[in-house]
Amino acid sequence: MSLIEITEVRKSFGTTEVLKGINLDVEAGEVIAIIGKSGSGKSTLLRCINGLETITDGSISVAGAQLLDDEVHLKALRLKVGMIFQQFNLFPHLSVGGNVMLSQTVVKKTPKAEAEATARKMLERVGLGHRFDAYPDELSGGQQQRVAIARALAMQPTALLCDEITSALDPELVAEVLAVVRELAAEGMTLLMVTHEMKFARDVCNRVVFMHQGRVHEAGRPEEVFANPQTAELKQFLGVS
Ligand code: ADP
Ligand code: MG
Repeated sequence: MSLIEITEVRKSFGTTEVLKGINLDVEAGEVIAIIGKSGSGKSTLLRCINGLETITDGSISVAGAQLLDDEVHLKALRLKVGMIFQQFNLFPHLSVGGNVMLSQTVVKKTPKAEAEATARKMLERVGLGHRFDAYPDELSGGQQQRVAIARALAMQPTALLCDEITSALDPELVAEVLAVVRELAAEGMTLLMVTHEMKFARDVCNRVVFMHQGRVHEAGRPEEVFANPQTAELKQFLGVS
């Protein structure tokens, strides 16, 4: 059994089908890059995996538990699968520490002292242990995104989904965020990343999934996928001919 099992998943918005039968099994500890043109369904797939969208057909299971379309199951699923977005969405009126503590105390009902200890530990892990009392607007974009990563980690997820988490950052801030992700990967975190950072995908990921028009069009080890793309669509996407 794989950690995440995605079987024949379809998703429509109205009459438009944007996921057309996705099959993808993710083993614990795998680091997968999801690449593809804008509109190919990458974000929708991640949003389905953590239950932000309900699927139209097929099935998704995480750690053996099927994603069923009811609130109890969706809530349980969101606890297991963390998600980080392009926009950091930190609460501006809360301190960095307060941001990392919030879902623990509200969603998990973790006692405050324990939530604070976890928040300090996770901020340490992303290199921001010294900024617990700072406010988001005192931090750079890269630091804010690292706080968002700490906030996701504080929920002790079994997998992390990252949707273009460096796309809103100034180029000089991308590396510090990718360094944190690289470290999580090395520590064995299961990661699904939608990314445009091809060098990162090549260096850190053990599988690359190319999506095209709502399907997994091509997938494989990064050295194969990048050096020897098989389909015309992937060749075009990578800019090779
Ligand atoms: P990607 O992340 O690869 O750019 P998305 O998953 O965001 O692609 O979008 C795939 C398709 O689904 C696009 O055509 C987009 O317009 C459509 N789509 C995404 N979310 C919605 C929604 N909430 N309602 C209607 N259409 C949507
Ligand atoms: Mg997207």
